[in-house]
Amino acid sequence: MTAFLKEVDYYEYYYFRFAGSGKGTQSKILAQKLNLFYFEAGGFSRQLAKTNSSIKEIVDSGRLIPEEEMTKLVFDYLEKNVPLEKDILFDGYPRFVGQFEALRNWMASRGKKIDWVIFLEVDEEESIKRLSSRRVCPKCGSVYNLITNPPKKDTICDVCQVPLFQREDDKEEVIRRRFEEYKKNVLPLVDFIRNEDFFIKVNGEAKIEDVTAEILEKIGIFPK
Ligand SMILES: [Zn+2]
Repeated sequence: MTAFLKEVDYYEYYYFRFAGSGKGTQSKILAQKLNLFYFEAGGFSRQLAKTNSSIKEIVDSGRLIPEEEMTKLVFDYLEKNVPLEKDILFDGYPRFVGQFEALRNWMASRGKKIDWVIFLEVDEEESIKRLSSRRVCPKCGSVYNLITNPPKKDTICDVCQVPLFQREDDKEEVIRRRFEEYKKNVLPLVDFIRNEDFFIKVNGEAKIEDVTAEILEKIGIFPK
């Protein structure tokens, strides 16, 4: 296990945001297994929205924060919070060719490179169904999914016994809009890098453990 962690110390990963692909789950598992700093763009945006009303408006409507603004905010945050020797798993960033190039340059300035891009492929309608089934506890913040991870009782938090709610950006119409943006913005990025050695495509519809196993196998790591 020690050797395993050492071996992968220098890897830097990132995920495409493909809404509903289960990439949040996979990202957390991988970040933990591989000892990476986990950067999640969605949570980061929502955090920003708490103190910035123009960003709040963008996030609530399911649109994306303008490319250059987002890039600056992300790098500022990472420079303050991640020591140079720690590698980063990006979840949901970058989403555009321009952001990708900015990230590559930023990493080069830190003496790093992009080791892997993991693309989780899923069916669009399946994703929309899964994502719009997400519910959150207003009290403790626990996240449930009525399909993949339901609470024990109806739509009540297991811990707090209070009704769960649906976040504004988990509503179906918002998710559909996000998919349209996704296709407009991210697919050109996929085309831009799909022939690179670091680009890996994985079936995002398999069971969680199987998706993890496929990712680790494709990046050449076989933890046992
Ligand atoms: Zn709760």
